[in-house]
Parts: sequence; C-alpha cells; structure tokens
Amino acid sequence: MKRRDFIKGAAAIGLGTYVLGKAVPARPSAGMNMPARFYKKLSRNRVQCRLCPQKCKVKPGERGDCEVRENRGGEYYTLDYGNPCAVHNDPIEKKPLFHFLPGTLAFSMACAGCNIECEFCQNWRISQTRPQMVETYDIPPGKAVELARKYNSKSIAMTYTEPVIFYEYVYDTAAESKKQGLPTVMISNGYIEREPMKELCKVLGAVKIDFKAFSQKFYDEYCGGDLQPVLDTLKLLKEEGIWFEMVHLTIPTLNDSPKETGELCKWIIKNLGPDVPLHFTRFHPDYKLRNLPPTPIKTLERQRKQAMDAGIHYVYAGNVPGHPGENTYCHSCREMLIQRVGFSIVKNIIKDGKCPKCGAKIPGVWK
Ligand code: SF4
Repeated sequence: MKRRDFIKGAAAIGLGTYVLGKAVPARPSAGMNMPARFYKKLSRNRVQCRLCPQKCKVKPGERGDCEVRENRGGEYYTLDYGNPCAVHNDPIEKKPLFHFLPGTLAFSMACAGCNIECEFCQNWRISQTRPQMVETYDIPPGKAVELARKYNSKSIAMTYTEPVIFYEYVYDTAAESKKQGLPTVMISNGYIEREPMKELCKVLGAVKIDFKAFSQKFYDEYCGGDLQPVLDTLKLLKEEGIWFEMVHLTIPTLNDSPKETGELCKWIIKNLGPDVPLHFTRFHPDYKLRNLPPTPIKTLERQRKQAMDAGIHYVYAGNVPGHPGENTYCHSCREMLIQRVGFSIVKNIIKDGKCPKCGAKIPGVWK
C-alpha cells in the first residue's frame, strides 16, 4: 500500500490524533503559511524542493512526497511550522543519546510527516500522516525554549517523526535556544541535502542518526530512500565537528547478517573514526512489518562484539533494559563509567569528561 492510500485509510478509521503529552492546550493548526527554504523555481510555476534527496518537483496546488510542503502559485510553503503534534519531556537516553548530557530531560517535539516510509516505523501514526490530520499545539520557537526551561529540560529534542521535513521550525527553534544557552538536538534519518544540513550544524547541539541498513537494497525495499545520502550526511557531521551518535535498528533476517555488520563497522572506522557511539537496538513488530519476531538478544550481542572487535569504542545494545550492553565502559581501561537501566542512570562516575580510573578522555558532551 502506498503512503497516499494508507493516509486515506487512516482518516477513515480515525487515526487523526496522536498526542504524547499535555504540555500546553491544543488548538487547530496555525502554522501552514510559513515560506519554505531550500527550493528552486521552475517553469510554469512549478518548484523543485532542495531540502532532501527526494528532490520533489511540485506543480502548483500540489505537495511534495512528504505531504508537508505545498506549492501555491509558484511559491513554496511548509505546513507545520510551530505546530507540533507530539510534545513530551523525555530522558535524553530515550533518543537515545548516551554521550550527551546524560541523566537530563529533553523537551521533545514532533510535527507530522516523514520524507521516507519505513515499513517498520514505530511512530507511524504521526510520521505517515499529514499536518491537517492531527491535533496540534501552538508552540513557536520562543515558546519552546520557555517551556523547556519551565519543565527543567536541559535540551530541546526534535524527534519521533522526521525533523528534516519541518526544517524551518527546527532551525529557528535551535537558533533561538542556542542564543539562550539551551542546546537543541535532532533525531533524524539523515536523509537531507548537504547545504541545509550544513546550515543546521551551526545551530544544533547534537544529532542522532537512525541508520537503517548498510544496504541500498534495504533502503529501496523497506524505506523508499537511498543509502548514499545518509552516508554523506554522516561524513558531513564528522566534518562539521558536531556531536552525533548512530542507531541501527536490527531486524531479523533483513539487516542482521555478520557480513553487513562487518561492512558497516569498516565504513564507520574509515570515515567517522572509532568514537561515534553505535547503538544496535531491538526491533519489535510494528506498522507494516509484523511478520517478523523481535530481535533475538544474542543477535545484538553478536553485533556489539563484532563492532567492538572492529575497533569502535562505544557500542551499545538498545531496547533491552538491564542488559550490560546499555552501560558505558571506558574504551581504554574498560571501567564501567555509566550504569543504565532502560532510560534511567544508576551511576555516572565520569569526571570532567574523563575516566576517573585511567584518565582517558571520554568522547561526548558531558555538561
Ligand atoms: S522535503 Fe518533502 S517535498 Fe522536499 S524533497 Fe523531501 S520529500 Fe520532497
């Protein structure tokens, strides 16, 4: 089933609303008139979006593939500026970012939509819909910072769906929060063009990339996207020097072969170095991929060992609360530095960004 058909079906059975928190009163969408950035005007009032690698060519009165950008008479607009459909205050560990302000809360927001369609999406009710089909909040960038402060959050997180498609809101919120000394983090599939990502790096505090598979075939068959642009984004993040971590959702039989894991680790070491944390997380059947079982824990353990043997310093097992693979161990002396259970920190002995036992500098943003 294609996204458009699915959306029609979802509307028919009332999947219009999905709200994670009640931070502020909801009201109908008000942010549908913000000019979009990164597009090119074409002949006959058509436009070409330059925000993500889909590079949609859009006729007047139509929208791009993500359904969040609309051509009105040759001018392009984003439809969900300042109108998140999900708002919550999460532990930063839930993103997961393990080397970025551990033990703190991230004021988390999402607007409806996505630029790819992963068949295993765990937030499909809000990612595979349209802005007008969900109840939204009115939270312009300044208000987001105010709310984050009010709820004692140490960062703002653009998360749950795909922040690339509500780029303008992400950028302006990150710029405002940075001005006020509060970092914004983006949880993204990395499916974005180089120029907009480069601009974002100037205002963001950290990025987490949901890496789907080290396989073009997988991106093609299960996500409706391409692998290479995501690899390019990872290299760009490294070049820009912004803190980032990678998550690999391991799906039985589809992206879990030792060969593919080995190739991924080799690519990471060569292009990103050993210090980018890599999280192998457990899949649960969801959305259109319900015929496969949850990932066996021994698969995650095998991948974790394989990645550490390849030289990656910080490798985690995710969605397995209480597993030792959730903890942070010094890459130099193997001392346990941060003990976690699920999204909670049991202990954290990192001092001034260093291991207290051997003095090794631990990569990350610790305060
Ligand atoms: S952001 Fe949306 S409209 Fe723009 S290229 Fe990507 S999918 Fe198409």
